[in-house]
Amino acid sequence: MKSLSNEQKSYLFRSIRTVRDFPKPGILFYDITTLVGDREAFNFLLDHLAERYADYGLDYIVGIESRGFIFAAALAARLRVAFVPIRKPKKLPYITISQKYSLEYGFDQVEMHVDAFSGVQDAKVLLIDDLIATGGTARAALDLIAQTQAKCVEACFLLNLRELNDLGEFSRRTNVYCVLEA
Ligand code: AMP
Repeated sequence: MKSLSNEQKSYLFRSIRTVRDFPKPGILFYDITTLVGDREAFNFLLDHLAERYADYGLDYIVGIESRGFIFAAALAARLRVAFVPIRKPKKLPYITISQKYSLEYGFDQVEMHVDAFSGVQDAKVLLIDDLIATGGTARAALDLIAQTQAKCVEACFLLNLRELNDLGEFSRRTNVYCVLEA
């Protein structure tokens, strides 16, 4: 089961609640708390990801704050792989490396501890977030990993909001796997 059948996809998709006009008018928010709050759906997803990534020889699974942490940490524990958080600015206590990225108005930044991958030479890394919209956050996370010796072997998103991004450039830099599309 390296990717899901259409029936399995619609089962998972139905477990995600959509909320209109959150956090502001015009946004359809995909609420994954209903997926992780459903024991069957959450474990179905984790079983699938664990099977997909079992043979990748991963050294680290990196999760993007904050919903990415839920899936990345749970999968890391299943695969007995280390977990690394990528966080918003000024959240991590030790020395960090950082990557700026542009938003519609202004900039944001993601950070990671400088020694996050120091336990393994040329570490193989899987990057995980819950959802890819414009792709700005994921690109910044990939740029951050590129500042290290580690190699991002795949970026995995539970849900891809296709209309908002073009994964072309991104997927030339790393493999991309989106469990679901909307
Ligand atoms: P982006 O950088 O535009 O790809 O945004 C990705 C991040 O924003 C992810 O971490 C998502 O959790 C969050 N996000 C963006 N749009 C939505 C949405 N419509 N519903 C839920 N989360 C979203």
